[in-house]
Amino acid sequence: MLLFLAAGGEEVTMVIEQHLQRLEKFDIHPWSGRGTSAWISGPGIHSGITSRVRFHCDPLAPVRLRVGKTEIPLTTDFVKDTYLATRIGVEDVTVSTVEHLLAALYVLNHWTGFVIEVQGDEIPILDGSALGWYHMLRRVAPEPMPTPITPSREAVAEVREGYVGLEPALPDEPLRITVKIGFPHPSIGMQAWTGLRTDCHNLLDARTFGFNHLLDRLIVSGRGMGFDGENAVVFDDVGTNLSLRGKDEPVRHKALDLLGDLYLIGKPLHAHVVAESASHEAHVKFANLIRHG
Ligand SMILES: [Zn+2]
Repeated sequence: MLLFLAAGGEEVTMVIEQHLQRLEKFDIHPWSGRGTSAWISGPGIHSGITSRVRFHCDPLAPVRLRVGKTEIPLTTDFVKDTYLATRIGVEDVTVSTVEHLLAALYVLNHWTGFVIEVQGDEIPILDGSALGWYHMLRRVAPEPMPTPITPSREAVAEVREGYVGLEPALPDEPLRITVKIGFPHPSIGMQAWTGLRTDCHNLLDARTFGFNHLLDRLIVSGRGMGFDGENAVVFDDVGTNLSLRGKDEPVRHKALDLLGDLYLIGKPLHAHVVAESASHEAHVKFANLIRHG
């Protein structure tokens, strides 16, 4: 049986209250306590095809995806692709762009208790952030956490343009992430964000972003087909298509992506993770090193 948290009273609920009106236009059916499931439907940012994601209660069992009869465990062992988004699957049954949903699960501390049925092959992008997922599940109390992983040795994942590694963690810090990015655009430049797991609710509203001069190339490659002008922040020579949710929205979104990919370790991580100019490829490579220690 799922428990429900009282509305309000938590710092995290303030994040959602600021954005509730903006979420109204999306097809989100939050867990109300009356039904046995909650669902969201909407187009994927890359495929442009609408899919439906339904959460079913499954007490004490690991959170996992289900597509038809295929169950997909949420671990790095099942990652199929990391180009522009994280795609996970079993054999030829795959689901793309799982990272924002997984980041919301991490923020809410949900490691068991749900099977997530996906009718489609890409998770809806909604407004480009993780707010919709958080909104759907925010009143559901988490079940007891699995035993966290504390890495006993160094782990560094380097890829061509960035890296993810470990820094010494303080004993009272279960998880800290530090993310640094640099883009030669006057509205971004060099940015950094650091915070504990309990600070990660500050990442939920940060939206996916891209650059106008890369948009054509993206669409020619068959990606970005679901971009509608309002579900991603696009930087061009003069500014952005949408007003930013703070100057640091780009680095907060990168931190959100990292948190989502770290969920694929399969357990909470107790460590200080540092990512610099990292991609999903580096995130997942790192998460896999930790998982298989
Ligand atoms: Zn993202």
